[in-house]
Amino acid sequence: MSSDTPALATNPKFIFFTDFDGTITMRDSNDYMTDNIGYGPERRRELNIEVLEGRWSFRNAFKDMLDSIHHPFEECIKLLCDNITLDAGFADFFTYAQANNIPVVVLSSGMTDIIRALLQKLIGPAADDIQIIANTHRINEDGSWDIIFHDESDFGHDKSRAIRPYHALPDNVRPTLFYAGDGVSDLSAAKETDLLFAKYGHDLITYCQREKVPFTVFHTFKDIHAIVKDIVDGKTTAQEVAKKGAEEEARRNEEKVETTK
Ligand SMILES: [Mg+2]
Repeated sequence: MSSDTPALATNPKFIFFTDFDGTITMRDSNDYMTDNIGYGPERRRELNIEVLEGRWSFRNAFKDMLDSIHHPFEECIKLLCDNITLDAGFADFFTYAQANNIPVVVLSSGMTDIIRALLQKLIGPAADDIQIIANTHRINEDGSWDIIFHDESDFGHDKSRAIRPYHALPDNVRPTLFYAGDGVSDLSAAKETDLLFAKYGHDLITYCQREKVPFTVFHTFKDIHAIVKDIVDGKTTAQEVAKKGAEEEARRNEEKVETTK
C-alpha cells in the first residue's frame, strides 16, 4: 500500500473527499472566530474581496484574519464546539459510508485539531475514522498560536495534491472519487474527481461555471446520501449524475438569459 493513498487500505470501490467549513458545518468556523473574537466581519469581508479580485492571496488573507484573534487555542476550540453545528444529514451519511466501505477524507483549509474536536463533539468517537488533511497550528511560549500551513501554495493547502495519487491509479483499480465543497479552494480538488457536489448558493458554483467543471448541486448531505446510495446500488453512475447536473445547469442559465432579456 502506497503511503500517498491511505484511503485504499480497505480496498474501497468509492472514496468520498469533502471540504469541512461550510460544507459539513452550517457555517465557517474560521469566519466565526474572526467575526466574534477577531477583528470582526467588516474587515474580513474587505479581505475576502481583496482575494476575489486577486490583490491578496487566500493564504495571506487567512493568516491576517487568524492573527487578529488573541484568545488561547483551547478557548477557541471551546467557543467553536459551543456554536458550530453540522449539516443535519452528515451523521447519517457518515454511518452509511462506514457500513459500505466508503472512506471519508476531509480536505480543509482550516486546522486539524479544531476539525477533529468539532467532529468528535458532533458525531462521537466514530469521527476518529475520518482522515483529516488540513493545516496545523503551533502554540508559542507566550501562549499565543500561529497557523502552520500544509504546503507552500497560495491557498496554504492545495487540496488537489491529496487526491491526485488516487486519480492517477489505473482505471481497473481506481475507486470512484466523490468530492463535496462550497468554496474557491475546492475547485482544484474537484477537477481530480469523478463527481463534484457543489453547495447550493455558494461561490464554488460560480467558479465551476467559469472553468466548465461539471458538478451537481446539493442543499444538505441528505441530497448527497441519496445520490451516493443510487450510485453504490448501481441505479446510476457518477458520470450520469454529472451529465445531468451539467444539463440542469445549462437549463438554469437559459432561464436566466430569458428573464434578463
Ligand atoms: Mg468551505
